[in-house]
Amino acid sequence: MKSYLAGIVMVSALVAAATADLYALQGSSSRDFDAEIRTAVQSAKTAAGVEFLGTLSRLCLLPQSSTEDTSDNVPEFVAKPSSAPARETWYADPARVFDNLYFVGGKVHSAWALTTSDGIILIDTIFPYNSEELIVGGMRKLGLDPKNIKYVLISHAHADHIGGAEMLQSRYGAHVVMGAADWDVVAKYPNRYKTMAPKRDIVGTDGMKITLGETAVTIWATPGHTPGTLSYTFTVFDRRRPVHVAYSGGTAFNFPNRTPDPGIRNFQTYIESQKHMAAEAKAIGATVILSNHSEFDNAYNKNRMLAGRGTGPHPYELGTDWVQRYFQVMQNCARAAQIGLERDLAK
Ligand SMILES: [Zn+2]
Repeated sequence: MKSYLAGIVMVSALVAAATADLYALQGSSSRDFDAEIRTAVQSAKTAAGVEFLGTLSRLCLLPQSSTEDTSDNVPEFVAKPSSAPARETWYADPARVFDNLYFVGGKVHSAWALTTSDGIILIDTIFPYNSEELIVGGMRKLGLDPKNIKYVLISHAHADHIGGAEMLQSRYGAHVVMGAADWDVVAKYPNRYKTMAPKRDIVGTDGMKITLGETAVTIWATPGHTPGTLSYTFTVFDRRRPVHVAYSGGTAFNFPNRTPDPGIRNFQTYIESQKHMAAEAKAIGATVILSNHSEFDNAYNKNRMLAGRGTGPHPYELGTDWVQRYFQVMQNCARAAQIGLERDLAK
């Protein structure tokens, strides 16, 4: 009896081992993960063409950005302002880009002033150490009065975009709009956001319109880069001709993504958001893609091309096909990284 039972146990163990082997074989042999990654990267490369090489490099080719910061430390550039990066590394001249859209950012990070008949909507606010000179100073250089800022839209709560929000809210009484999850992060980490944290104000939600005068910015929830990342669509004018803009609110993969759980899920959220934004861009016929980093939309270089434009095409106006291709780059690079985690999971 004893040996009979032992025999059953042994047979079961053998069956279990064989089954496990089979699954392992199926898991690794039925999918060629490396080939899938190569295909996704190739698709991103094809979509990027010559226009989005910065986005391609950052998302598909270069080592990934460091992942989520869970500390609550005062950033060095706030604790010791003399440690902030030297001016020549970030200063850029402001520029009037469209009839009603002005660039008031820097070489690397962007901020935009959308003028309306009833005041100004400011999109993203760069760092605490350069928002005064670039945004306030830049607006004055362009003949805009910062006192007229009525809304400040923050695409997401990272220091390179929220840096000037507290100053603009307290000094000019501007309303600040941000995604719910990012408002929560700002409240949770008072030291990390020291000098940058606006008082909780408007929660931006998917499909919400921020209307000022005759102008409306439509907000789209595009979680991924951060849980509360917001993107936008709006219309500007080029020599009085309406031009539709898609503004991508968060790009790099610096969310928790080193392990299959929660990485696979986080990449999926990111991919879904890019599809969502691509569809909204298509719906309004967006021919311009804007970002909050010059690396992704070439704003810094394009601003310098504006002066020599003459009667030629607007350097920012790429056409509807290119705008879609931008989101293809983001989706395919995210998919390539996601496949890498699926491979880790199958090991
Ligand atoms: Zn960011």
